[in-house]
Amino acid sequence: MRFVNVGGRAGLMVPGGYLDVEESSGGRFPPDPHRVLQQWSAFVEAAPDLRGPGRPLDSARLGPPSPRPRQVFGIGLNYRGHVSEANLAAPQSPPTFTKFPTSIAGPYDQIELSGDTVDWEVELVVVIGAVADSVSAAKAWDYVAGLTAGQDLTDRAMQQQPPVPQFSLSKSFAGYGPIGPELETPDEFDDPDDVALRCSLNGTVMQDGRTRDLIFSVPELIAHLSSIVRLQPGDLIFTGTPDGVGMARTPPVYLRPGDVVESTVEGIGTLRHEFVASGQLAGRAG
Ligand code: ZN
Repeated sequence: MRFVNVGGRAGLMVPGGYLDVEESSGGRFPPDPHRVLQQWSAFVEAAPDLRGPGRPLDSARLGPPSPRPRQVFGIGLNYRGHVSEANLAAPQSPPTFTKFPTSIAGPYDQIELSGDTVDWEVELVVVIGAVADSVSAAKAWDYVAGLTAGQDLTDRAMQQQPPVPQFSLSKSFAGYGPIGPELETPDEFDDPDDVALRCSLNGTVMQDGRTRDLIFSVPELIAHLSSIVRLQPGDLIFTGTPDGVGMARTPPVYLRPGDVVESTVEGIGTLRHEFVASGQLAGRAG
């Protein structure tokens, strides 16, 4: 099942377009994608029976499939290639930070740069579909609504600012957590634990990895996080980025106004973001 946010309304992709969830369910489910995620198991059960005119999709209207997560987790150093390029030791448990939820944005939004050291990190993003409290890795996929693609954009100067690294704030400027273009349920994947992901800058591939190389897999991340915090429907887990970020290059490469970053996760689609200088956007992304 392919779930979308079309102009703030929940949608279900069908051949030739999409169904508006509220309309095609006769009002049984609300229009707000966040509220549909709060009753995800009922929605999954009802989805095959939704009927109605398939509408043509204007992809420019797509928003983040989980627009208002209560918690957004980011995992650092979760691919060995990225651990090496960062010159750090492999972690014994998942290094975790938060992206504050106001950083969440859609798949094709323009994004304002916070400075001249902003970097890309393509990531597989997990969307939680049920309250998860001390869930075992063996059962963890049962608590996943679906997978989507994301960018964990980071202001490196702020992230590494002494004396204390600022992971959470440096990754939480408006628009620094774009996700989309769709949420795919786990059954849509041949193997949801082995998905290709890629990031290109102005058409040049910068990152190219597979989630089978995650140090901590999706089930292990859910088991770890849910042993500490209660995961809520709609919550997001940015699962980490493969090697190829701009910071690790010689010389480093950072985003400039006019740059276009395309972030692809196999089976989900491609995010496309154009970056603009600070102060260029009247409204805030998201
Ligand atoms: Zn990241």
